[in-house]
Amino acid sequence: MDEIFKILACPVCKGNLEYNLEKKEILCMNCKRIYPIENGIPIMLEDKAKIK
Ligand SMILES: [Zn+2]
Repeated sequence: MDEIFKILACPVCKGNLEYNLEKKEILCMNCKRIYPIENGIPIMLEDKAKIK
């Protein structure tokens, strides 16, 4: 796993994130927001997140 994903925390709740390699998205384990990854760059913006 890329180091960048270990240091990121959810910008909304500071919760732990899980990187979904298959779907290329990042799920917050705490608030269930899903952040997209565009061109290999995680888009950690609240208004870009989907809520599961
Ligand atoms: Zn969160």
